[in-house]
Amino acid sequence: MATVTPEPQALSFECETGNYHTFCPISCVAWLYQKIEDSFFLVIGTKTCGYFLQNAMGVMIFAEPRYAMAELEEGDISAKLNDYEELKRLCLQIKRDRNPSVIVWIGTCTTEIIKMDLEGLSPRLEEEIGIPIVVARANGLDYAFTQGEDTVLAAMAARCPNEAPEEAEKKERNAIASLLNFGKKKEEVEAEESAYADHPPLVMFGSLPDPVVTNLSLELKKQGIKVSGWLPAKRYTELPVIKEGYYTCGVNPFLSRTATTLMRRRKTKLIGAPFPIGPDGTRAWIEKICSVMGVEPKGLAEREAQIWESLEDYLQLVRGKSVFLMGDNLLEVSLARFLVRCGMIVNEIGIPYMDKRYQAAELKFLEKTCHEMGAPVPTIVEKPDNYNQIERIKEIQPDLVITGMAHANPLEARGISTKWSVEFTFAQIHGFSNARDILELVTRPLRRNNSLNGLGWENLVREGAKHNI
Ligand code: SF4
Repeated sequence: MATVTPEPQALSFECETGNYHTFCPISCVAWLYQKIEDSFFLVIGTKTCGYFLQNAMGVMIFAEPRYAMAELEEGDISAKLNDYEELKRLCLQIKRDRNPSVIVWIGTCTTEIIKMDLEGLSPRLEEEIGIPIVVARANGLDYAFTQGEDTVLAAMAARCPNEAPEEAEKKERNAIASLLNFGKKKEEVEAEESAYADHPPLVMFGSLPDPVVTNLSLELKKQGIKVSGWLPAKRYTELPVIKEGYYTCGVNPFLSRTATTLMRRRKTKLIGAPFPIGPDGTRAWIEKICSVMGVEPKGLAEREAQIWESLEDYLQLVRGKSVFLMGDNLLEVSLARFLVRCGMIVNEIGIPYMDKRYQAAELKFLEKTCHEMGAPVPTIVEKPDNYNQIERIKEIQPDLVITGMAHANPLEARGISTKWSVEFTFAQIHGFSNARDILELVTRPLRRNNSLNGLGWENLVREGAKHNI
């Protein structure tokens, strides 16, 4: 009798109502003001936005952050006050108190609805006060959480210089190079320059903490690939030179607008690779860059194997466990792909927005990983509906739910382990060496369960209430 081998499953996509919890994209100011040291972020919105930032950013708000709210009043909304004069007054105050190299205006829901023309106002004011003003509409009407960074970087991509600056300035601008060459003699630096393969200039985009930037740049350096610049750089004045024909590559899955801007407006070529999250993703990312640059990658298989070996203690905890990603930060596909490689079964990948073109390589990689691991291919649910998801969670009873704070405690009280999704955005998760940090996060609830096992109070909700999570 002939046996029929089933066709490997393909990814399936669904779209629900968009009724889900996530952070407002204005939250991007919290990590971007720290990354771009000479910036100031002005969020032009209402008390709603202010309350959100104040609460979501926790202790950071006591550290004199370089962001502020321009709180709109009745008079602004009814156009009794002059928008231009009001903003000028605030920006002059910022200039006097903080003297930043750039002011970033963050447009909000209100500025959209009352159609405040921020893009129209900024060039005139920029000229008048002598500080660049970048406008990003990171509002809750159009975007979710990390997409806020995408809108800011897309706006900054337009500000990257076309030409390399004069010699004197160049030294300061090329911060990554000087960081990598720190403490070396001139001859050594020259010798190292020749160690790079001869390839077209490559600019990376995505805001990452400086240690991670150095780490990824060094990984590529080992392959002879030189990173010419990084969008954003440590300082606004160090934005990388971008010319037509340069290559660009993203480090995060939520940067599709930035990628589009770099391709369409700056005429660069995009390297579409999986993202450097997890050792498998990092290897695939480096390999793809190498293949585009015409470089033969060396030693990556061994490097990846070594990292997996060092993760074994954590892998034992997650193997065979199921995980449900409710979806709120756009890192979900990359995380799910890494977790499948770790031996987990992914029930569902919720995601606020799915750009199938920008994430094409990552999606293919996810599918391939599922087939190789013999794991079921998860459904990707775009714009999920949290109520429906809770119903599905109730039915599936996954071992772990990655979700926001709104659902975490209620689920825990019903005996379902959860991991707070926002931590993945703020933890260092990129590159080979940070794979352990991802698993540290994922296994935390599982380890806690192990140590509290047998106490008999996993389920703390009254019987009747259990059914309406
Ligand atoms: S969703 Fe809109 S109103 Fe709410 S905090 Fe974000 S920008 Fe402000």
